[in-house]
Amino acid sequence: MKNTFDVAIIGGGINGSSIAYQLSKLGKKVVILEKGTLANEASSAAAGMLAAQAEMEHDGPFFQLALKSQAMFPSITNELLTYTGIDIEFVNKGMLKIAETEELATALKSQVLFQQNWDSGIQWLDATLVREMEPALAPTVAGAMFLPNDGHVQPAKLSLAFAKAAEHFGTEIRENTEVLSFIYENGVVKGVNTSAGAFYCEQVVVATGAWAADLMKNTGINLTVYPVKGECFSVKPNKPIVHRSIFSDKRCYFVPKRNGEIYIGATVVENTFDKQVTAGGIATLIEQAVKLIPQLKDAPWERVWAGIRPQTADGIPYIGEHPTIKGLFVAAGHYRNGILLSPLTGKLTAQLLTGQVEDEQFLSAFRIDRSQISIS
Ligand SMILES: Cc1cc2nc3c(=O)[nH]c(=O)nc-3n(C[C@H](O)[C@H](O)[C@H](O)COP(=O)(O)OP(=O)(O)OC[C@H]3O[C@@H](n4cnc5c(N)ncnc54)[C@H](O)[C@@H]3O)c2cc1C
Repeated sequence: MKNTFDVAIIGGGINGSSIAYQLSKLGKKVVILEKGTLANEASSAAAGMLAAQAEMEHDGPFFQLALKSQAMFPSITNELLTYTGIDIEFVNKGMLKIAETEELATALKSQVLFQQNWDSGIQWLDATLVREMEPALAPTVAGAMFLPNDGHVQPAKLSLAFAKAAEHFGTEIRENTEVLSFIYENGVVKGVNTSAGAFYCEQVVVATGAWAADLMKNTGINLTVYPVKGECFSVKPNKPIVHRSIFSDKRCYFVPKRNGEIYIGATVVENTFDKQVTAGGIATLIEQAVKLIPQLKDAPWERVWAGIRPQTADGIPYIGEHPTIKGLFVAAGHYRNGILLSPLTGKLTAQLLTGQVEDEQFLSAFRIDRSQISIS
C-alpha cells in the first residue's frame, strides 16, 4: 500500500526529529509529517541553553530527565557530526545564575547546596569573583551560582541535524503536510489523514509542540498544552562582552554564540499563537539587559524574533501512550526546555514504542492521562 510506514511522527520540530532519529536507527520505517517546514517553530526560536540546573530547583523525574538529557550532549554532538556533517555548536563553558539582591543571593546559596548533590563543581561566587569571571556585569550584581555543565547549542542546527541523521537511517520527510485526524479501528491506530492524503502505519507519535492539544482533543484526551510566546533579540559586538551564559531570575538571559552573536531573551506572553514581535516586549528586554550589562547599549543590533513555547498545566511534558488507543503516542509540552530535553525525549519515546523503557520512573511521571483527564 502507498504511504505505509512502521511509524508516522507528526511534527518536524526538534522532538519529532530526535524521535525519528532514534527509531530509524533501530531499523523502523519512519515518516515525519510536518505542516510547514522542518524546525520552523519553537525549535528555531530557542536560545539553545541546556539549563538543567539553572531552571530546576527540585528533585524528581523531570529534573532527572533534564540531567540525563544534558549528559547526552557530548555524544549526540559527535554522532550528529558523523552522520550529517552538521556541527550543532555545542559550547560548554557553563552558566552564571546571578542574584541581583542580597535576598536573592540567600535563596541562590541554598540552591547551590541542593545542586551540589548532582554536580560538585557547582559553586557560589561572591560579587568580586563574579566580576572577575564576567567583568561586563553591573556592580549591582550581588553574587552568582556557577553551573559548569549548563552549556548551549545552536537549536535550529540541532533540530535539522536530528532530521538529517534520521534521513540517513531511512526516515522520509514530508514537509507542507498537515495531519488533520487519526485513523483507528477497534482501539488500534492505523494511520493519519493529512492534507496530502492518508498515511498508514502501526504507530503514530504526536510531536506537535504547542499544537498538540488540538489534534488530541477528538481522541477523548484533553492535553493541557497551551502556547506561550517568547520574544528575543540579538546583538553582535565587535569583540566578546560576555564569555558564558548569564541567567537572571528577572527572566532575562544572555547566551553568547560561537558566531559572536549574543542572544538575549525572552518575554513570556501566555495563550497566543501570534508570533509578532512587539516594541513593548523588546523594550522591556533591552531595559533589563542594559541594566545588567551596561556595555550592551553600544553593541551593534543584529535581529529580533519570536516563537511559541508549548507549556502544560503542571509544567512538565507529556511522553506516553494513549490509554485507550493502542499505538497512539504523544511527546509534547516541553515548554522552556525542549532543546535540553530533545536527546532523551527521542530515546525515551523510541524505548516506549519498542516496549523497552529502561527507566520506569518516567513512564508514570509523563503519562498523558495524568490528572485532568476526560476520557469519553
Ligand atoms: C524564545 C524561546 C526561547 C527558548 N529557549 C530555550 C532554551 O534556551 N533551551 C531549551 O531547552 N528550550 C528553549 N525553548 C523551548 C524550546 O524551543 C521548545 O520546548 C522546543 O523547541 C519544542 O520542540 P517541539 O519539537 O516539541 O515543538 P516545535 O518546535 O514547535 O515543533 C512542532 C512542529 O509541529 C508542527 N505541527 C503542528 N501541528 C501539526 C500538524 N497538525 N501536522 C503536521 N505538523 C504539525 C509545527 O509546524 C512544528 O514544526 C525556547 C522557546 C522559545 C520560544
